Amino acid sequence: MAASLAERRRSVAVNVGGVTIGGDAPIVVQSMTNTDTADVEATVRQVAALARAGSEIVRVTVDRKEAAEAVPHIRDRLAASGDEVPLVGDFHYIGHKLLAETPACAEALDKYRINPGNVGFREKRDQQFSKIIELALTHDKPVRIGVNWGSLDQDLLTRLMDENAASAEPREARDVMHEAIVQSAILSAERAEELGMARSRIVLSAKVSAVQDLISVYTMLSQRGPYALHLGLTEAGMGSKGIVSSTAALAVLLQKGIGDTIRISLTPEPGGDRTEEVRIAQEILQSMGHRAFVPVVAACPGCGRTTSTVFQQLAKDIQDQIKESMPDWRKRYPGIETLNLAVMGCIVNGPGESKHADIGISLPGTGETPAAPVFIDGKKAMTLRGANIAEDFKKIVEDYIETRFALRENDGEDSAETPKTPVLSAAGE
Ligand code: SF4
Repeated sequence: MAASLAERRRSVAVNVGGVTIGGDAPIVVQSMTNTDTADVEATVRQVAALARAGSEIVRVTVDRKEAAEAVPHIRDRLAASGDEVPLVGDFHYIGHKLLAETPACAEALDKYRINPGNVGFREKRDQQFSKIIELALTHDKPVRIGVNWGSLDQDLLTRLMDENAASAEPREARDVMHEAIVQSAILSAERAEELGMARSRIVLSAKVSAVQDLISVYTMLSQRGPYALHLGLTEAGMGSKGIVSSTAALAVLLQKGIGDTIRISLTPEPGGDRTEEVRIAQEILQSMGHRAFVPVVAACPGCGRTTSTVFQQLAKDIQDQIKESMPDWRKRYPGIETLNLAVMGCIVNGPGESKHADIGISLPGTGETPAAPVFIDGKKAMTLRGANIAEDFKKIVEDYIETRFALRENDGEDSAETPKTPVLSAAGE
């Protein structure tokens, strides 16, 4: 996309149920359910909602026999309702047993997530890890080896701490912890390869909950092998804390070209909307110029030069209209996600910002003539006046979308010739 984007680190591409993670593929958005997977009804509902919100891969917990048995039914129900999305099973402690004893689950999943710190202890760890890899090979499924510092392999950490203590120049304990996290992921990936798993079937993650730790760990991980990387700040927290922390960490890593798929681990409010994490992930990627998901509305923050709330209301109305209409717009208006709008509060930055957008409006600030110039594709197209400026502008936006993005009968033959600049009826001037 944009020329200023950092060059992506070159990773090995992994196919997960038809979605590519890594290589040249766009950075993939994924999410995880918080329903009891054994509750087929609730899980289907939430997976479908996440998929419709734009999650390209959805992970579900598989923690016991009932959950494993539910997975094929969830898969079938999603297929029947047209909400198919690659499903990943999240396994801890007994994944080897669940996958072996429920082959229909092993088959229905598109990837298995294994936590090397929770796969068993000492000699059992190696056996159980090997068993999951063998099952993944049998069912021809990729795996994510997902280390989490809350469940880090304690034997490995202890060994590295002991070695560090005995060294001539011991490092900070935190640095040793980072090394243990990275080694846990890399050693497990190498073990999987020894067992016959191709690199193109392995995704790695190494999640921690502090921003600077995450940046350090992933920077190290990216230098230790070409594996595709799943990024995410674990236990990011609630509300603005979770959003800001995740954005801060991921923005730094993405700017270094690190990361092939992302998940934002927000703690929802009780009864809150799980799809929020999908929207935040999309907004991070879109604001950094990696991908486009929805039209963007640039709006000024407002100040003492505009004491009316007209521009705030208009910006909100347009944003709400986009949110409500996107499921339909995506089908009717290919490329709609690249649309840029501007709603500005006064003449200071209004015309300038509006000219940079596909369509922009500069509303009159306090004391200005009550007129709102509208700019389309960088040129002043009209000036709106009167009591219905907001409604008139929304109509202009709808007309623009219809003219520029609507599917035409001859699309695919000469769509390149579809005029970019629409012909609009002047709603004001
Ligand atoms: S565009 Fe005008 S109203 Fe908006 S922040 Fe700038 S000076 Fe204030």
